[in-house]
Amino acid sequence: MIKSNYHTHTNFCDGKSTAEEMVKSAIEKKFDIFGFSSHSAYPYKSSWHLNPEKHFEYSKEIQRLKEFYKNDIELCLGFESDYFPLICSPDKQRFLEFEPDFIIGSVHFVVNLDEPEKKGFPQEDSDIPVNCFSIDSVTEEVQQGIDLLFDGDGKKASQTYFALVREMVTSFDFDIVGHLDILRKRNNQLKFFDENSQWYKNEIEATAKTIAQSGKIVEINYGGIARGSLMDTYPSVEFLKLLRKLDIPVTINSDAHNFSHIDTGYDLAIKNAITAGFSEIQYFSKGKWHSQKIEV
Ligand SMILES: [Zn+2]
Ligand SMILES: [Zn+2]
Repeated sequence: MIKSNYHTHTNFCDGKSTAEEMVKSAIEKKFDIFGFSSHSAYPYKSSWHLNPEKHFEYSKEIQRLKEFYKNDIELCLGFESDYFPLICSPDKQRFLEFEPDFIIGSVHFVVNLDEPEKKGFPQEDSDIPVNCFSIDSVTEEVQQGIDLLFDGDGKKASQTYFALVREMVTSFDFDIVGHLDILRKRNNQLKFFDENSQWYKNEIEATAKTIAQSGKIVEINYGGIARGSLMDTYPSVEFLKLLRKLDIPVTINSDAHNFSHIDTGYDLAIKNAITAGFSEIQYFSKGKWHSQKIEV
């Protein structure tokens, strides 16, 4: 079975390792295909995104590594592009000049568009407006964001998150939907929603249906495990079952920020795919997507 990953961060954005350290580790851990996906809010900047001026440097470095290690591993260039209404979007058109192999579209910022005057959490060293918070951030930021932007209403914050995901999926041209239910990351501590409530089930079902119509691929992201934030994949097995029912293709991604984390959780991702009923997963190679049977 081809071992692949398309979601990796390096010290070009908020990762801890260099791209080359990641490649060496990927070879050691027997990945066949390994992709990079620096955080990009292009053309805006923030402390955890690739600086807009460094997009070419980053792309050139990945192209250099692609060539240098071509006999050992197939490398791919990508971006994890944020969706922030009217600010930045995961649209291939925006990234053409960098010639990426793929784009991951992710919602990190939750924005209350109904009440734009409300302040969320200050985004340091950033062009991003303040009426937001990052759902993927530390517990304090998520709590403050829900309190200030949504008057403490976790249901409203969650529904806003999923509405943004659906809007992103239908509006833009990209390949992989990133960490679909990342809002679970801080729910262990904050308990701002209940995954078993009917409204939550309605949200994930509506989101799955929207993705099915778009033809996009969903990642099974195991990045929470190595970082100790969630000992499970995004999305959950329950969400994966909905995706399976609608024949939505999936791929497996690490979201590693450190070379020692690149396959921590890979086996659980395969296990969750099987539990949800998947027998095939997708991988990208030589310019296009392929399907393969899961073998364990
Ligand atoms: Zn992300
Ligand atoms: Zn990521």
